[in-house]
Amino acid sequence: MFSALKPQPADKILALMGQFKADPRADKIDLGVGVYKDATGHTPIMRAVKTAEKLLWEAETTKTYTGLAGDPAFNAAMADLVLGGTVDAGRISSVATPGGTGAVRQAFELARMAAPQGRVFVSDPTWPNHLSILKHLGMEAVPYRYFDADTRAVDFAGMIADLAAARAGDIVLLHGCCHNPTGANLTLPEWEEVAALLEKTGAVPMIDIAYQGFGDGLDADAAGVRLIANRLPEVLIAASCSKNFGIYRERTGALIALSDPARQEVTQGTLAYLNRQNYSFPPDHGARLVTMILTDPALRAEWEAELEEVRLGMLTLREGLATELKRLSGSDRFGFLAQHRGMFSRLGATPEQVERLKTEHGIYMVGDSRLNIAGLNATTVPILAKAVIDVGV
Ligand code: PMP
Repeated sequence: MFSALKPQPADKILALMGQFKADPRADKIDLGVGVYKDATGHTPIMRAVKTAEKLLWEAETTKTYTGLAGDPAFNAAMADLVLGGTVDAGRISSVATPGGTGAVRQAFELARMAAPQGRVFVSDPTWPNHLSILKHLGMEAVPYRYFDADTRAVDFAGMIADLAAARAGDIVLLHGCCHNPTGANLTLPEWEEVAALLEKTGAVPMIDIAYQGFGDGLDADAAGVRLIANRLPEVLIAASCSKNFGIYRERTGALIALSDPARQEVTQGTLAYLNRQNYSFPPDHGARLVTMILTDPALRAEWEAELEEVRLGMLTLREGLATELKRLSGSDRFGFLAQHRGMFSRLGATPEQVERLKTEHGIYMVGDSRLNIAGLNATTVPILAKAVIDVGV
């Protein structure tokens, strides 16, 4: 039977990780995989997470099952983190999921259950896993223009023109902040316009928010989600705790669905049903740490302070890189690096230039020239800048 299986395409980013590991050069630089790294290249356990783990180890008395939706305290804390208390609790359904990926998968499945013929509008480009999960589920992905290759900013006119084709039954997938892979994001007035368009089309927005706190701050990064949540009657939100709590391997995320209060019970039941079909109970350890941190004032303050250090560190690297490239190129054409937000920027290099950066300079980034800003430090910023100019970007 297994002889009928076909080889599946390798995940390009994971393959790149393997190539980097195998590269013997001591001065190689990894700007590939989307993981936060400090100046020494280490992905640390956040201080508040370490403290919460100790407290949890001391206090936890059972590992029996949680509910199908996960711990209600986690769901409430996550709804509060993302929505900031701006949405009436009667509209909110929520479940814990294995990471943001689990939430994305369940959101697509819910959409398919509700509207089997519905399409999913996705930014061009988007996180490749969006496309791969949609393909796996047999759902149609419709790309909408998003990134202007010349300015490296959002092609907002193109985006609005393309989204006008969405209709009731369709999903419009938006990145809440820190767009992956481009780093280019909507302004608040642009979110307003998207909300108005969605109202007109009747399509349901789905917001993937995987980097809250990595862009302009916890509240600023959620401003678009909150605006959409308050303007549209039905909204899906997939939130990840992997990056902002640094708990990648704990697989912690939440799927939040907003509906008419009259539909809340059925919506909540559907989310729990989807958990049941896919894996029964969602992972609990990371969710419990997140709940402890978000609900304990001292732990929360410690977490917010460290998250802010991380965010500001990445901004400093962005500004440093933009400044160095301005100096070397004698032009402003790399100014977008300081405008982008989050862990990623799409540099706009050709695949050949990306290849040369790898072979000639030992600098690894994804083939579409997405670079992980957090992979840099004060020493490697000028090295990257020089290499970028050298390969002719
Ligand atoms: N959405 C986007 C846009 C992402 O970049 C990621 C992480 N790469 C995720 C969702 C999901 O992350 P995780 O499943 O690790 O929480």
